[in-house]
Amino acid sequence: MHIPGHLAIALAQHCLPPLAKDKKTLKPLLLACLFPDAVDKTIGYVFHAMPNGRHYAHNIFSLIGLSLIVSLIWGKTTGYAWFLGYAGHLWADRKSLVPWFFPIRKYNFKKGRFAFGLSQFIRETVFLIITLIIYRISR
Ligand SMILES: [Zn+2]
Repeated sequence: MHIPGHLAIALAQHCLPPLAKDKKTLKPLLLACLFPDAVDKTIGYVFHAMPNGRHYAHNIFSLIGLSLIVSLIWGKTTGYAWFLGYAGHLWADRKSLVPWFFPIRKYNFKKGRFAFGLSQFIRETVFLIITLIIYRISR
């Protein structure tokens, strides 16, 4: 999934309980929904330290550990928003390999290139626009 799809899912999450459009939860939710790709794609495709773009930040340990750290620093509500945004990202990526238990479990990471599908990007952008409209209307 590309950035527009992840943002659309996070906005939809922000409309639902328990976040229910709490203004202070929107920023951590949006940051967390992009965080796994920002970290792993940078490590994999910019620094070439891993063969692809899903590893250190695309697993259950990063989800839980970073959510706890965010909770300790910024409080329980922010930590919960971070957890939901992060979990939403991993859930959205589930159609292809998500190394849920890396590094405890070994995964056969294949060398990959940054995959950009224009038609998928357009579909996700339309999805984001529709989600933004619904988000604004439901205020
Ligand atoms: Zn991802």
